[in-house]
Amino acid sequence: MAPGKKKQQQVRLDGLAVSPGIAIGPVYIKGSSIEYVEKKKLTPEQVESEIEKFRHAIENAKVDIECLQENAERSIGEDNARIFDAHKLMLEDEMIVDQTIARIKNNLENADYAFSSVVDTLEAQINSAESDYLKSRSVDLFDIKRRVVGHILGSADECIVRFSSAVIVVARELTPSDTISLDRTNTLAFAVDLGGQTSHAAIMARALKVPSVVGLGKASKTLSTGDEAIVDGIDGTLILYPREKTKRFYRQKLQRYHRFEEKLSRIRKLPARTKDGKDIELVANIEFPEEAESIHEEGAQGVGLYRTEYLFLTRSQLPTEEEQFQEYKRVIGAMKQHPITIRTLDIGGDKKPSSIQIPEEENPFLGLRGIRLYKDYEEMINTQLRAILRASVYGQVRILFPMINSVYEIRQCKALVEQVAEQLGNEQLSCQENISIGAMIEVPSSAIIADYIAAECDFLSIGTNDLIQYTLAVDRGNEHVAYLYQGYHPAILRLIRDIVEKGHQQGVWVGMCGELASDPLITMVLIGLGLDEFSVSPISVPLIKEIIRRVEYTECESFADRVLGYASVKEVSTYLHEVMNKKFKDLFGGDLIHQ
Ligand code: PEP
Ligand code: MG
Repeated sequence: MAPGKKKQQQVRLDGLAVSPGIAIGPVYIKGSSIEYVEKKKLTPEQVESEIEKFRHAIENAKVDIECLQENAERSIGEDNARIFDAHKLMLEDEMIVDQTIARIKNNLENADYAFSSVVDTLEAQINSAESDYLKSRSVDLFDIKRRVVGHILGSADECIVRFSSAVIVVARELTPSDTISLDRTNTLAFAVDLGGQTSHAAIMARALKVPSVVGLGKASKTLSTGDEAIVDGIDGTLILYPREKTKRFYRQKLQRYHRFEEKLSRIRKLPARTKDGKDIELVANIEFPEEAESIHEEGAQGVGLYRTEYLFLTRSQLPTEEEQFQEYKRVIGAMKQHPITIRTLDIGGDKKPSSIQIPEEENPFLGLRGIRLYKDYEEMINTQLRAILRASVYGQVRILFPMINSVYEIRQCKALVEQVAEQLGNEQLSCQENISIGAMIEVPSSAIIADYIAAECDFLSIGTNDLIQYTLAVDRGNEHVAYLYQGYHPAILRLIRDIVEKGHQQGVWVGMCGELASDPLITMVLIGLGLDEFSVSPISVPLIKEIIRRVEYTECESFADRVLGYASVKEVSTYLHEVMNKKFKDLFGGDLIHQ
């Protein structure tokens, strides 16, 4: 408890668990200084020195960002660290600088207040824009504002915030620079007011294995630096001012969690094979190249989905062929001859890079998304395919096309690959012979005609994240209808069964790279339906492997039959919980898996 504060009542806040683990400790409230910007009236004599102070603050902020970028390059790689280019550009934006100076001169406003007001106006404009991408940039503005104001007031964070002891970092919103600038060895956990499962912070926290909860609403307003808290990244809760008894409970839960992880880690090197000898390909999904290096430690046999959008979302220009080639080559190299499935660009929907102009649409998820953009951006896809094919000679590459909806589309995509391979051949550049080409089955149309699609390609990969949203007509990012977003819906289970059957009829293997593949409760059903490949988030690999290794394929077949016989989500869910809790009492029996 912070010194001088009276004892507070224990409070529990519920959020979204984004990175598993438990932390108990003092909190550090990150980035609240700008809330205390005060308006002061300058005398005309103070104007020049105030402008000077502002210019200095801008320069210092630039130095900070250079330093952050260098750190980021080391931890998340040069390309991903380009996210800080946007911050530098904002600091150089003449409009922001000129308007601030004008306010200091004309309104006799103090520099911190003038600068905050200019940035607030810009932030309001961005937030009222239709574009989700623009809205997401307001996080960068917030970051810049905090940094510059910090320098004006002389309270800026150092490039790396070093904590004298381990802390739970509590923030209104966690920006990429926050995540990277924090002293990781002393960061116990993240607890964040805003954000969702796919926010930058969530992605980074998972990759960094820092227990994290987001969407907590008012944690950063309620707590002060030095207060004690508990983050439960398994259940998605934050407990403020915990009682002794609660701390004891969570210490024990943490020990159980460590033992659980330790137990699972013992099978990392063993194959994902059922007791009766059926081999399953267990691979991982990755978002950015740095993750590729660690997936073997988790026990994955390769990458089943490399989402290449990140490369395009973190920079203001389209990445060149050479930049992409180097990036893909590095990821492929890290696979050490294990297979890697590179998904071609799936932008549109909620992913809009600033480097290309996607028109504003009424229903972006039903509009220009994935391969639908390739017709208008021929050069962009051509460049990406050239980079992938050139890099393919360094390993075992498969190419996966997103949002396939018809036989015509998969044929078009194959023709693109052939054209690019021919171009490369004419330039005496080599690429992998007969590269494997797959289609994502993530819209109901392609699920229904999966046999026709399969006849055109080498494999299918079921994208349940979208298949659920399109089949059930439930926006995957809309919290109002989140309760209807149900992977256990009989319609989804039937579609999965049919896709696998149809793929097999055509002699192609079928994988799943949507999040449903990472759900341990449904693993037996998916095995029983004959799914050949599970591509799961890296942290889920050990648990899914453990389940695969403890079951028999034949028992999974009858289990899946039974589950497919239920007419409602409730029945499916009740049955899955009942059987899995009993069969895997040591795994599911406690509170170490979010159910
Ligand atoms: C999916 O839709 O299931 C999928 C894996 O793709 P994404 O989540 O990138 O849309
Ligand atoms: Mg998808």
